[in-house]
Amino acid sequence: MRLGESDMNVKLIGFTPNPEKIPAMAAKLTHSKTKPEDLDKSSDRELKTILDHVLKLGHTSVIEHSCFTFAISDVSRSLTHQLVRHRIASYAQQSQRYVDFKEPNYVTPPKIAKDKKMKKAYDETMSIIWKQYNNLLKMGIPAEDSRFVLPNAACTNIIVTMNSRSLMNFFELRCCLHAQWEIRKLANKMLSEVKKVAPGIFKNAGPACKTKGYCPENKKDCPLYPK
Ligand SMILES: Cc1cc2nc3c(=O)[nH]c(=O)nc-3n(C[C@H](O)[C@H](O)[C@H](O)COP(=O)(O)OP(=O)(O)OC[C@H]3O[C@@H](n4cnc5c(N)ncnc54)[C@H](O)[C@@H]3O)c2cc1C
Repeated sequence: MRLGESDMNVKLIGFTPNPEKIPAMAAKLTHSKTKPEDLDKSSDRELKTILDHVLKLGHTSVIEHSCFTFAISDVSRSLTHQLVRHRIASYAQQSQRYVDFKEPNYVTPPKIAKDKKMKKAYDETMSIIWKQYNNLLKMGIPAEDSRFVLPNAACTNIIVTMNSRSLMNFFELRCCLHAQWEIRKLANKMLSEVKKVAPGIFKNAGPACKTKGYCPENKKDCPLYPK
C-alpha cells in the first residue's frame, strides 16, 4: 500500500557523456569554420560562452544533442498518463498484461491521506477493487482484461529518456504550480537531478513564468505570478 507522494522514486540512470560539451560543440559549429571533428579541441571556456550565446538567441535545437534517462517508480497510472503525452521522449512502462498486481499497490493523494475519514473510505474502495481484480483472475479472466477494474491510483514503474530541449519544455509545463501535484513533484525531482550534471543548460529551467517572464496561464492569484 502506498501512502502518497513521498513514495515516488526518481533516479537519473544515464545521460549523454559530456552533456554540455556536445551541445556546445554543436553551437560552435553553427558559428565557425572549424571542422566538426576538431571542435573538441576548443577550450571549455570558449564552448561555455558560445553555448550561452546560442541559447540566448533561442537556437535551442543544439541542446537536443544531450539526452537523460530516468527510472521512475511508485507513481500512479494517472501520472504516467500525463507523462506520456510528452511525445518528444522514449518510454518503457511496466505492463499490466504481463505482470499481475495481486497485492493492492496504489498512490494516495496527500489531500486524502491527511483526512482520517476520507483515507479510510479511500483504502476501503481500493480493497474492494483489488478483491474484484483477484476474483476476475481466479475466474480465468486474463490479466489484460482483469486490469480494467484497476484505478488511476494503481502504482506503476516507467523509464523515460528525454533530450534537454524536450526536458526544458516538460519543466515549463509541469513545474508550474498549475500542474497536477504528482507530475509537478516528478518534474521538480527530475530538474534537480539534471541540474547536478548539466547546470549550464538547466540553470534557468523551470516553470514558464521563470523562463518566459510571463504566465501563459495568466494565473494572477499564483504566488509565482511575475510582478
Ligand atoms: C496544466 C496542464 C493541463 C493539461 N490539460 C490537458 C487536458 O485537459 N487535455 C489534454 O488532452 N491534454 C492536457 N494537457 C496536455 C498538453 O496539452 C500536452 O499534450 C502535454 O503537456 C505535452 O506537451 P507538448 O505537446 O508540448 O510536449 P511534446 O509532445 O513533448 O512536444 C514538444 C513540442 O514539440 C512540438 N510538437 C510535438 N508534436 C508535434 C506535432 N504533432 N505537431 C506540431 N508540433 C509538435 C510542439 O512544439 C511541442 O510543444 C495538459 C497539460 C498541462 C501542463
